Amino acid sequence: METQPITTLADLINEIYLLIDYSAPEEESEALKEVLEGYAGDAIAMNVFHHFYSYLPDAREDGITGISRVARRHGVFLFCVTTLYSTYLYLATRESTTLLGPFSAGIEEQDLLEFFGWRDDDHFREAVGDPAELDEHIPMNDSRDLCPVCGTGDGEFHAFGCPVEICPWCDGQLTNCECRFIKTGREQLSRDSHLDELLARLEDAGRVPYSAAEHRPSFLTEDR
Ligand SMILES: [Zn+2]
Ligand SMILES: [Zn+2]
Repeated sequence: METQPITTLADLINEIYLLIDYSAPEEESEALKEVLEGYAGDAIAMNVFHHFYSYLPDAREDGITGISRVARRHGVFLFCVTTLYSTYLYLATRESTTLLGPFSAGIEEQDLLEFFGWRDDDHFREAVGDPAELDEHIPMNDSRDLCPVCGTGDGEFHAFGCPVEICPWCDGQLTNCECRFIKTGREQLSRDSHLDELLARLEDAGRVPYSAAEHRPSFLTEDR
């Protein structure tokens, strides 16, 4: 349940530098590393870079030249990723990244379309339009309306386990205060069932949604 996103981010970036050396055309690698550096504080974008360079979608040398945000809901991001040779759709959260496929193939999964509010693939294509016209994804550290760790929006609940979530019982940091042990009567929360129990208690007490105005500044003082 404890997460340390800031320290692992630095490790992640170093790993992506190495992956770029292996996975991208050599003459492009400096420029591609600059693109990466533009997103250095954004854990979710970093996951996309890591996934891309680990599993090159077309199994040939390539590199990310830009990321656009197609949609976002409850900390789930749909990104349009432009590369030297192609354009892809990725679905990403703080915990996971999924390659959906080439942008031109659209979205097949009905559940996913509906999650973001599109009736079907045609509606998605119509609503999104030309990927070249999409706005560049603003790195989350610069994006004041989003939780800088889990990416949830102003007024939405954090991804469970996000260290920015405020404890409804003591107003402290939920991943740090003692309330999670006191309220569940457990010394450790080591199993999924323990976490489910905590989540149920939290929901009874009323989880504190992310507030960009109130919760963000204190967290940023820890930014390194
Ligand atoms: Zn959060
Ligand atoms: Zn507490």
